[in-house]
Order: sequence, then structure tokens, then C-alpha cells
Amino acid sequence: MDARISPLGPGNLTDYATTYREFSWASVEKDFAWSNGGRYNVAAEAIDRHAENLRRNKIALYSVQADGGVRKFTFGEMADLTSRFASGLEKLGAVKGDRVLVYLDRIPELYISVVGIAKMGGIAGPLFSALGPEAVKDRALDCSASIIVTSPYLYQRLEPVLDELLDVKKFIIVGDDELPEGKTVRFDEALELGDPRYLAMNMAPTDPYIIHYTSGSTGKPKGVMLGHRAMVQQFVGCKYVVDLREDDTYWCTADPGWVTGTSVGIFGPWYLGTTLVSYEGRFDARAWCSIIERFKVNVWFTAPTALRMLMRAGDDVIREFDLSELRHICSAGEPLNPEVVRWGLEVLGTRIHDNWWQTETGAPCIANFRCMDIKPGSMGRPVPGVVASIVDENGQEVPPGTYGFLALRPGWPSMMTGIWRNTPKFREYFEIPGWYISGDLAYVDEDGYFWFMGRADDVIKTSGERLGPFEVESTLIEHPAVAEAGVIGKPDELRGEIVKAFITLRPGFTPSDGLRDEITNFVKTRLAYYAYPREIEFVESLPKTRSGKIMRRVLKARELGQPLGDLTMLDD
Ligand code: ATP
Ligand code: MG
Repeated sequence: MDARISPLGPGNLTDYATTYREFSWASVEKDFAWSNGGRYNVAAEAIDRHAENLRRNKIALYSVQADGGVRKFTFGEMADLTSRFASGLEKLGAVKGDRVLVYLDRIPELYISVVGIAKMGGIAGPLFSALGPEAVKDRALDCSASIIVTSPYLYQRLEPVLDELLDVKKFIIVGDDELPEGKTVRFDEALELGDPRYLAMNMAPTDPYIIHYTSGSTGKPKGVMLGHRAMVQQFVGCKYVVDLREDDTYWCTADPGWVTGTSVGIFGPWYLGTTLVSYEGRFDARAWCSIIERFKVNVWFTAPTALRMLMRAGDDVIREFDLSELRHICSAGEPLNPEVVRWGLEVLGTRIHDNWWQTETGAPCIANFRCMDIKPGSMGRPVPGVVASIVDENGQEVPPGTYGFLALRPGWPSMMTGIWRNTPKFREYFEIPGWYISGDLAYVDEDGYFWFMGRADDVIKTSGERLGPFEVESTLIEHPAVAEAGVIGKPDELRGEIVKAFITLRPGFTPSDGLRDEITNFVKTRLAYYAYPREIEFVESLPKTRSGKIMRRVLKARELGQPLGDLTMLDD
């Protein structure tokens, strides 16, 4: 078992066990303006309440463009702009419950749109701007979107599918380029139509404010809806997991097209009145470090894939920058390899707090908290208010150390309210009475820490044993030549399946039979006898989703010469 890493400093949560035992969701309600007569709406809590108090002139958003230029907005300005946009949408014919897609790069108008849509009772559908026309079309048709907010170049990208977007009545286009013919309106025009004194629509807790399409790791993305009540858990997540404080400057690298990018990337931190940094550009080790340095980022939320890329860039690159303001780092979305945690402590000088959740859970559910020891490779313990367990196929809880289905007791506040037009799929999660079944396999240790094994679909059955790809991948990347690894089970007559690893190398290493043997032996001496990869293939890159997750189903389908399935989410 890995050595523990003790807490490095005090956090918002001071005593996990006591807080967990005594916690009730009702106890955080007083932190919301609606508990005191305010409107029940995520936009009112994220923005308007701050505009009415001392934070009016506080910076809500530093939006860093790809060229390094910065646009900044106070809470007061955001209140004004989102009200205008909400009211402009109404004047353009949008009504409560309408799905409005936001297909934009990470520019301020993206933030204004998403919050503005929620403000008028609409359902915002943020789409990552790297999606191609087919992926946008699939989503627009799936949820019958009536409006798409976009930019001139992205609108142009939609050209081949425009005729098929029959439900879309308006395209709201950012910028002052000449507007193309058609159903187009300028973003600024929508703002001008709107009233800056517009008040957020009062919503019911289960009314959705957002529809997020899942990452597509296991199949066709699902349109998951989250309700306004999710704010309660996103608030707690940002306070206890992300450990945000009043004066922090916070950067969440996840694109708002994914749940992380809105739940802990926009709304959650704004409930606490935190200043956000957003960066339009793609990953680049120096550019990323320079943002942390330049804005004195205190709290950073990112993903394993980005951390592995930073590791690969080399420690010298990171040491060029002053990252001393970084107090707290979080990672979610994929398993966080222990090697990355150890590297973070050494090179970034702070612990990386892994936390587990899904689009469907709406907010972190299992996490490493600042006040707790970290056991590298573990996802941590349940968030106060969330009941998590490991169960078998009958819903019986299994003893510590036993693998099973990672399950939650339904009813946590940010639980999805539904999957758009797919009630059968929604019901599948609740087929085992009393539980929400996540689709992931894990175990709990004697101290109550959760350990991820893999997605149910990815588990390898070899020589009569069940093995998760994560364990093998994590060991592989401990080898100095290995940058990233994707591991699958490959059918084998003798063993059921054998372990096959796809590996990318760090700069300076080249594939060879010698290296292959060395890596094989490296794993053999560290894991159970059945867990070493009997086949290793060196590759240039691993197939990943656009949100940066290794797509093992694609590795497997390629290996077996099978149909590759839905590839709209494959990053290119
Ligand atoms: P799809 O549901 O479309 O197949 P997806 O499951 O990748 O895609 P998300 O909702 O973005 O879509 O991701 C949730 C999944 O990500 C979890 O079910 C889990 O497999 C993985 N995950 C998230 N956080 C962690 C973590 N901290 N450790 C391990 N796995 C994680
Ligand atoms: Mg999923």
C-alpha cells in the first residue's frame, strides 16, 4: 500500500469525521439568498446576490484570450449583462424550459450566455467548441434546441448541417462581422434588446438549468439534465473539496462543455463569490504555467491528462515559473495515477486532491479533502451529505477490500433530474433497489477510502482474476520511458483475456524490443503475476475523448477489428 501524504495546511473543512456524521443539506441552506426571500435560480445565487452586496465591484471573471489579452468583468457587470441577455432571449421568443445551445470558445460571452439562459428559466446546453458539425447536429436534434449561440467561424463550420437544424429558430452570433443571411441575430443586439434590471425567474428545485452531454467514453453521449437544486451540492463541493476562500483566484481548466467546467468551473465558485480565471487557448505547458504565475492562481482544478502532459513537458519547464501562490489543486474526470500525485508534491510543491464524480452526479461525490491524509491512487471519501458504498448485483454492501459496483444512495442534491428523451436509460441507473449504480467498479479500504478499479465495461478477466486497467496503467507510467498508457483485455483462448498495453513514450525514448522487455519486467516485479501486459504496442498517441479521457473501447475495437462505434467524441 502506498505511503500516505499528510495535510499541508488548514482547509475549510477541519474535521472530516465529525462533519460527515453531523452534516445535513438543510444546514447549508442559510448560505443561499433564496432562504431569505431571494429568487430560486442558479443565476441569482451565482451573480445577482453579489452585485447587490459588497462584491459588486469585485472581479468575477478574468477571461484570457489565446493571444494573452485579458477582458475582465465585475459581479456588477455580469449581473447587468446576464440580465440583458436573459431578457433579450425572451424578446427573441425563448420561454422557460427551452434548450439553448452555447457553441463558443472560452470567451466571456460563453459565461454570459450560460448564466443568462439559466436566469430566464432556459436550459443551457454548452458545447465544447472543438466539436464538429455532426456532433453539434446530433445534440441540437436530440434536445430540439431552439436557439444556438455561436461565433462567426463556428457558424461557418455548421454550414453543412444548417438545413437539418429544423428546430433552431435563431442563431445568436458574437462579434461584429457581417451577419450571414438566415436566422441570425447579433449577440450585441440581443443585449440591447434586453433589460439590465431583469430579475431571475423563480424556479422549482428540480427544473433543469443545464443539459450536459457526457464524454462518450463508453458509447453515445447522453443528455444529462441538472436541476437548480444542484447549487446546494456545488456550493458544498467548492467549499470543502475545492477549498475555495473569499480572496482566492481560481482557475478550472475544464471546458464548460463538460460538467466540471460548469459545476465547479462557473456556478460553484461564483456561489462563493470567487474570482475566476478562464483561458481560451489549448494546453501548452508554458502557457498554462504562465497563467498560474501571472494571475497568482491560488486554487487550480484540472484533470489527470493535463497533469500527465505537464509531467511529460519536463520539470525544468515548470521551474521557470513562480507558482508559489498555488495553495490547492484538484483533479477529476479520470483516475489519478499515484505517480502523478507524488510528482505534484515534489514539483508543484502541493498535494493534488483527486475527486470522483460524473455528469450524472452533478458535483463531486467522493473526494480527498485538505484536512485528510491522501493515499495516492485513492479517490478519497464521500462528500458530507453523500452516502456512497460498494454493492454487489443484489444491492448488498460488500466488505472492505472487495470489488463491486460503486453506488450512491439516491437523493443527493445535484443528482441528474433526467436524461433528455431517454427515460429507459435514466431508469437503468436505479435498477438495483435503493441505489444509484454509477457504472464504475471500486472498493473501499478499512479506513473508508475509495479505490477506483475501472469502468464496468473495461474490466479485464484474465487467468480467472478480475483486473482494472487503471492499476496496470499507473504502474506502467512509473517507468521512466512511459508517458501514457492505455490497457485493455484482449481475448485469449487459454486465459480468457490477456493484458495488452498501448504506450506512448516520453521525449528521448524510442521503441525497441529491449525497451518492451524492460517495461514488461518492470510491471512483473510490481504487480500480481497475472497483471503484467503480455503484449505491448508502442503508439504515437492514445485515442482520447475531447474531454481528454483515454478511450479504451476504441483501443479494444481497433485491436479486434470491430466497428469503432460512436466516434463523434474522439479528439483528433
Ligand atoms: P460516457 O458516460 O458518455 O461514457 P464518461 O463516463 O466519461 O462518458 P463523464 O460523466 O464525463 O462521462 O465521466 C464520468 C466518469 O469518469 C466516471 O464514471 C468515471 O469512470 C470517470 N471518473 C471521473 N472522476 C474520476 C476519478 N477521480 N477517478 C476515476 N475515475 C473517474
Ligand atoms: Mg459515464
